[in-house]
Amino acid sequence: MNPSVVTPFVSTENHKPVGIPAGGNYFAGMEEFATVQCPFCGQSFDVAIDTTIASQCFTTDCEVCCRPFEVRAECENGEIVSVTVAG
Ligand SMILES: [Zn+2]
Repeated sequence: MNPSVVTPFVSTENHKPVGIPAGGNYFAGMEEFATVQCPFCGQSFDVAIDTTIASQCFTTDCEVCCRPFEVRAECENGEIVSVTVAG
């Protein structure tokens, strides 16, 4: 038996930053702010919604009472259609 030794291919090109254009405006037109109301303390504040996602759900922390709650956002054609919150 003479097992062959496989040398792993290691690329030295992986250290270059990728995906960020020189202009730095790669987020332009993709995020809108929506006003949500904390289900715990009732405080209203703005959260960023990625309008390129038709239906999304994420958790955010209240800016006032710091409790996490769920935000569901529906978007269409780059605009926010509806935003609902759940504690
Ligand atoms: Zn709160």
